[in-house]
Amino acid sequence: MDVSGNSLPSAPDGVKRKVCYFYDPDVGNYYYGQGHPMKPHRIRMTHALLAHYGLLQHMQVHKPFPARDRDLCRFHADDYVAFLRSITPETQQDHMRQLKRFNVGEDCPVFDGLYSFCQTYAGGSVGGAVKLNHDQCDIAVNWAGGLHHAKKCEASGFCYVNDIVLAILELLKQHERVLYVDIDIHHGDGVEEAFYTTDRVMTVSFHKFGDYFPGTGDLRDIGYGKGKYYSLNVPLDDGIDDESYHLLFKPLIGKVMEVFRPGAVVLQCGADSLSGDRLGCFNLSIRGHAECVKYMRSFNVPLLLLGGGGYTIRNVARCWCYEADRSCSWNRS
Ligand SMILES: [Zn+2]
Repeated sequence: MDVSGNSLPSAPDGVKRKVCYFYDPDVGNYYYGQGHPMKPHRIRMTHALLAHYGLLQHMQVHKPFPARDRDLCRFHADDYVAFLRSITPETQQDHMRQLKRFNVGEDCPVFDGLYSFCQTYAGGSVGGAVKLNHDQCDIAVNWAGGLHHAKKCEASGFCYVNDIVLAILELLKQHERVLYVDIDIHHGDGVEEAFYTTDRVMTVSFHKFGDYFPGTGDLRDIGYGKGKYYSLNVPLDDGIDDESYHLLFKPLIGKVMEVFRPGAVVLQCGADSLSGDRLGCFNLSIRGHAECVKYMRSFNVPLLLLGGGGYTIRNVARCWCYEADRSCSWNRS
């Protein structure tokens, strides 16, 4: 039995790949508050599984450098970053107007260490992009990242800073075209919005659509200006299973790879699309979710794997452990 519950032996595809894995041992200590579904502890659980299965020895493990103010300000507004840096649970009552303006307080609460949490998860994603740019690995992994809802000057959907946008901006230094693929159950709205008018970044999001957060991601939203036809949305209904999902995912991504020919790919692996998620309503198995990652890997283009949503945390840890491990097929051939 392997970590996904499969009894079949893993089937390495014979390609040797070097994997850089970013993890900060403090990340599991950040706490959104009682009853909040987002639990950074799941990142520590994923790491513990990788460690105890003996799988970390197959990857280069890095502790991320915290993203600095000026790194975050490459996408985010200066006053929003300054606010995130200064706000604390003790002082928040004195800043009600700003809290409202930046959408912080409800879904995106102020908690102890909020800013260093942002620096940590963004640092991992940008660090992964730097490693890929310098050809120091084929796949970079940051399960603490993937917070796709954050906007330029607004928090949204448990996300404060958009590490994905920052990582893509880093990849654009080296690559003419970058592809973003999002398999979280929620629409990847923050990333789509950031690159809606450019033809250098193509965004493709598969998500539940219709009376569901964040409400965007209509099939007819395809980009604007130079970016027209460079945003793709795949709105889906409740309960989609592995087979139906792959029937869309594979031909669509296959065609995008053929036509867009990206120099690097960022895959947001939100695990709230798994069956039994506390907030999600899809019916994907871990194997089915991982099949999307495997398919993306098969193109042998530099790949940044990020986390995202995922609220039944035992399943999140199993899923991401499995997907990180399967990325290291180079050690088993
Ligand atoms: Zn989500």
